[in-house]
Amino acid sequence: MKEKIFLSSPHMSEEGYEMKYIQEAFDTNWIAPLGANVNNFETELAEKVGSGYGAALSAGTAAIHLALKALEVGEDDIVFCPTLTFSATANPIIYQKAKPVFIDSDYTTWNMDPECLEKAFEKHPNVKAVIVVHLYGICADMDKIMEICNRHGVPVIEDAAESLGAYYKKQHTGTFGKFGVFSFNGNKIITTSGGGMLVSDDEEKIKKVRFWSTQSRDQARHYQHSELGFNYRMSNIVAGIGRGQLKVLDDRVAKKKYIYEYYKRELGSLEGIDFMPDNEWNDPNYWLTVMTTRGKVTPLQIMEALEKENIESRPVWKPMHLQPFFEEYDYVGTGVSEDLFEYGVCLPSDTKNTDEDLDRICRIIKSLF
Ligand SMILES: *Cc1c(COP(=O)(O)O)cnc(C)c1O
Repeated sequence: MKEKIFLSSPHMSEEGYEMKYIQEAFDTNWIAPLGANVNNFETELAEKVGSGYGAALSAGTAAIHLALKALEVGEDDIVFCPTLTFSATANPIIYQKAKPVFIDSDYTTWNMDPECLEKAFEKHPNVKAVIVVHLYGICADMDKIMEICNRHGVPVIEDAAESLGAYYKKQHTGTFGKFGVFSFNGNKIITTSGGGMLVSDDEEKIKKVRFWSTQSRDQARHYQHSELGFNYRMSNIVAGIGRGQLKVLDDRVAKKKYIYEYYKRELGSLEGIDFMPDNEWNDPNYWLTVMTTRGKVTPLQIMEALEKENIESRPVWKPMHLQPFFEEYDYVGTGVSEDLFEYGVCLPSDTKNTDEDLDRICRIIKSLF
């Protein structure tokens, strides 16, 4: 069997930064509960993206959940959410017993279509919050989306789980709305093995999120609780990995971009092949290189050919409004997400891939045409 090529796997720093921070935690016995790594990771990440404050949590999903809670999203409230995303964007809406309304993508950004968003506001004027996603590290059209949401006075949560290192008009994704969410899950551009971060300029809200995430313990000698608590805090060991990974984020973005350009150069002229959008205001992190294939070769044929050679690839996210679990909720759209799901394929975008690996992948794909 040929050596496995992953879609996107953990890539620790060559310099060993992560181990240094973990060692510090061991040396000071700050294995738990919190400690310097958690505080410093919050500060360093917030600084990197240009946000005021960060709350380090156990997952990006937890960050979305507590952002919704901080916006007082509750039973039967409506939350607009992109349909083309990973289910982790939508699930926390259900945790809060609220109702998602799914919004379609446009071809310009593959993300939330501002026109569909406008239509959704006409249909559901009483919206509590809007979640925007920057899928695959491509930026949503934030100027238009923020203008619409501000005009309606509705707060925005940016699910930037896939877009750490991606900038819209030179401003980091996750800093346009009231809250931004990052994920350090195993296949994201940097990883802590699992973890997330909520960022905001609102210090009070971030403090409140840290409080909720540590079981809502009131200031008292005994265990006193006047609010519902969650066990969502990031550990000091995990945060150490995050601090080390943050140091190599720029290198990872550069390599991801190199991979994207490699594929585009090698495969771009094949019949029916197109790549994810590249807008002039967009500095993506190229987390995954995604292409569409509308010619004689289908995404399934490409995925199967790669799989035979022990190479991972995957379809574009299946839209939420097509998921059995979310079937009952409203959807406003024109069919773009369904089309991208049908014709899209995510290419192996692992930053450890060598030119040889990329060449091997491209040869297999070319042989199908
Ligand atoms: C990975 C991901 C999340 C969830 O992050 P976790 O840290 O795995 O909970 C949320 N939204 C999107 C779009 C993601 O890709």
